[in-house]
Amino acid sequence: ATFEELGVNPQLRRAIEEMGFENPMPVQEKVIPHLLNEEGDVIALAQTGTGKTAAFGLPVLQRIDSRLEEPQALIIAPTRELCLQIGSDLADYSKYLSHINVLPVYGGSSIESQIRALRKGVQVIVATPGRLIDLINRGVVKLGNVHTVILDEADEMLNMGFVDDINSILSHVPEQRKMLLFSATMPPEIAKIASKYMHDPQEFVV
Ligand code: AMP
Repeated sequence: ATFEELGVNPQLRRAIEEMGFENPMPVQEKVIPHLLNEEGDVIALAQTGTGKTAAFGLPVLQRIDSRLEEPQALIIAPTRELCLQIGSDLADYSKYLSHINVLPVYGGSSIESQIRALRKGVQVIVATPGRLIDLINRGVVKLGNVHTVILDEADEMLNMGFVDDINSILSHVPEQRKMLLFSATMPPEIAKIASKYMHDPQEFVV
């Protein structure tokens, strides 16, 4: 399939073509049409380097309502480095989309400047769990319009002791949302989170 056949819009296609993406990678062939067109949640067993960032990033960006300056998608990742990488990739993909703001927020960096940036109206938040909880507790991140939640490297987040934070974040997002979980492995804790928060998830192995 081509990115066009998967339903990716012309502005996003133009950006990724410039980045040298010619054909979709397997995880993209599975996840992109699902996120764009289908109901229900997804568990994707995928290692890094398989193209998973574009697999969730392209459809997430395509589904943002640019007129609404509220968080609509939440991407949660274990480390500051991964947050920055995802934020930078999404900024590259969204080069030809207007009025889409993506913000990485992570610990170990000034929360005040992140709060100022959030107040400008951010639609896609890429966050580490602890900092996101802090921002939710301070009332600066409103989750009422969040329709998509991505957990990236879920097994790493559990290894790093973020299970309570993940549970707390997921209890704050609206019931009617789509959730995608990416993980390299499938330990029992992941199955537990999946059965607690996901609705009849479809599982892909890449
Ligand atoms: P990721 O697994 O998201 O870290 O992606 C691994 C690498 O593959 C990154 O450098 C991406 O820019 C690149 N990549 C992702 N999708 C494609 C594609 N369809 N064609 C070529 N390169 C890609």
